Amino acid sequence: HADLALYDAKAAGRNTLCFYNIEMQYALEIRAVIQSALYHAQELNELQIYAQPQVDRGGRLVGAELLLRWHHPMVGWISPNQFIPLAEETGTILSIGQWVLRSACQTLARWARQPQYAALTLSINVSIRQFRHAGFVDEVRTILAETGAPPARLKLEFTESIVIDNVDDTVRKMNQLRQMGIRFSMDDFGTGYSSLSYLKKLPLDQIKIDQSFIRDMTSDADDAAIVTAILSISRSLSLQVVAEGVETEAQQQFLYEHGCELYQGFLYGRPMPLAELEHFQQHVR
Ligand code: C2E
Ligand code: MG
Ligand code: MG
Ligand code: MG
Repeated sequence: HADLALYDAKAAGRNTLCFYNIEMQYALEIRAVIQSALYHAQELNELQIYAQPQVDRGGRLVGAELLLRWHHPMVGWISPNQFIPLAEETGTILSIGQWVLRSACQTLARWARQPQYAALTLSINVSIRQFRHAGFVDEVRTILAETGAPPARLKLEFTESIVIDNVDDTVRKMNQLRQMGIRFSMDDFGTGYSSLSYLKKLPLDQIKIDQSFIRDMTSDADDAAIVTAILSISRSLSLQVVAEGVETEAQQQFLYEHGCELYQGFLYGRPMPLAELEHFQQHVR
């Protein structure tokens, strides 16, 4: 992964101020180059859509989350954690996001005609800029109509940042989308602003326990307590829960014992090209 992160001034220290400035200047130039490359990446077919399996308590495939991948011919693989924020800044996220949405809907429409795939869901990540865009709801409506995708199989994932600036607008838009039959998932739950009142205010269907809590859950009592609390509150609120970043049998066992419904992580499958998901080998428990 190319490192686009800017240097932390404090970490660099006073004595390295001059060096730091050159490095920072360099980082800014790299950033601008990458932003412009990203603008063209879509036309150049450098972006790919991967899918990561999600399984139920019995280990059966229930759906997948779509995750973007960018392979730049000179830089190599660039992580979405790095290019999504750049795409947000420039607005490129609007066309990229629309492309992901369309691809998801085309796949869902095709699956709807095949009994073995018809029940599978697809989740897409929606960035705040995309969601705030005035035309977003209409865009979703149009793409659903054009593709003929079953709306109930489509899930939109947001992070908690979606509510910081305007809760009312968020709720209004979510309700419009919900009327079409679309479902919502709160991504990276517990890492953001995490006001529990949002769980009540927003018309959510699902929450995803952030992988940072799952990681050390089996050795760290605090993480274990947070995970069990999230599982318990979501059960009380009738929200479906997905555990993100499940890598080990021990993590799976812990989550299973505490009633977790859905699982996603390298233990079940890494993100793979969307077309390969149809060949995903299930390890039914
Ligand atoms: P996210 O939505 O929270 O996605 C989960 C991330 O965890 C993915 O990273 C996935 O590959 C990774 N992951 C899944 N299972 C495991 C595991 O068992 N262990 C570990 N260590 N990691 C695991 P990825 O693909 O690098 O994506 C990073 C973030 O970039 C995503 O976080 C999401 O916020 C953003 N992103 C990706 N695709 C899109 C997109 O199409 N649109 C938008 N707006 N954001 C996207
Ligand atoms: Mg996500
Ligand atoms: Mg997440
Ligand atoms: Mg994330």
